[in-house]
Amino acid sequence: MAPLPAGAPVGVYIHIPFCGHICPYCDFNTYANMEPLIPAYVDAVCTDIARFPGRFGSMPAATIFFGGGTPSLVPAEGIARMIDAVRNSFDLAAGAEITLEANPNRLDQRYCTGLLDAGVNRLSLGAQTFDRRGLRTLGRQHEAEDVVTAIVAARAAGFANVSCDLIFGWPGQAMDVWRNDLDRVLALDAGVDHLSLYSLIIEPGTPMAEAVARGILVPLSDDEAADCYEIAVEVLGKAGWIHYEIANWAKSAAYQSRHNMLYWRNGEYAGFGAGAHWRIGDRRRMNHLLPRTYVDAVEGGEDSASNSEEVSDRLSISETMMLGLRLLREGVTEASFQVRHSASLAESFPRQLDALAAHGLIDWDGERVLLTHRGSMLANDVCSQFFDEQ
Ligand code: SF4
Repeated sequence: MAPLPAGAPVGVYIHIPFCGHICPYCDFNTYANMEPLIPAYVDAVCTDIARFPGRFGSMPAATIFFGGGTPSLVPAEGIARMIDAVRNSFDLAAGAEITLEANPNRLDQRYCTGLLDAGVNRLSLGAQTFDRRGLRTLGRQHEAEDVVTAIVAARAAGFANVSCDLIFGWPGQAMDVWRNDLDRVLALDAGVDHLSLYSLIIEPGTPMAEAVARGILVPLSDDEAADCYEIAVEVLGKAGWIHYEIANWAKSAAYQSRHNMLYWRNGEYAGFGAGAHWRIGDRRRMNHLLPRTYVDAVEGGEDSASNSEEVSDRLSISETMMLGLRLLREGVTEASFQVRHSASLAESFPRQLDALAAHGLIDWDGERVLLTHRGSMLANDVCSQFFDEQ
């Protein structure tokens, strides 16, 4: 239940900042043509993880998540070494969820078997769309068939938990193309267990933003993107999928992303690798962004973080609402809130709860706060209310 109590097992995030090329819409901390650095980077991440208990002791951990970038660029032996480093430094739960994000390019059965042997038990595939024009607009280097082949390879290797990312709202996307993406992913013979559906955000400074500014690409309007979201809610609802978080659906409750649930429940997490964040206790830290700087800092025995800040009680309370309300079925419960924050929801938000309920944006019965469907369409606006002064 959201939020998690203080001291609950942490999630471990490991950032892999390498990509074969940079997609024009991407503003993640990722770099092309840096693959020669991968061996030194894996060494540095392992060293950084090994230093962790010296600071915090051996904390219990529930999940590991390799995100990127393209973690599947790292050989399976490197992934195994990083997982072993986590096992040596954390009290990793038996049956811990260990996820790796992968691009469909060149994801073959042999590599998948290596990942399973390393301990990875959940794959998250960046499919984005099955539409060829969409793949080119998004600058992706794979074809729709590669997604199918990758999922077949993952299943043949033995992966029992496969997630797939799709993007909607890309320039030129028609509603029937989006419907086709959803129908196609649901009809896959090898099947997927979890779907993350992201609305394309055209971030300033990206090549795609420049193409939009020059009139080369025309983005979908907010209303059109909202229509895409409604289509997803309808199609996946009819197919019996659980819409458990604003952008995430699971085939059954067992397939909800445990690592991301930990974030949405405002849990603690340790982050390793370039640009990774930590949140332990009342401190939040961010590692050096540049892979070479991160590697040099760790090799030189220096702090891997470039920034650190205190998270005040008030900010933590606001973040509990911003994150927890994304959980559409769970929301934020009064009981969990009191255990975590030693205050009641009504005392903490005397104005916001009644006002948002009166506008039909949340359901608030004194025991639990949930976004309404309308509230979920305006989630950013609703959540921002909890950062205002009372
Ligand atoms: S593959 Fe993902 S992380 Fe890499 S550039 Fe493309 S969008 Fe960014």
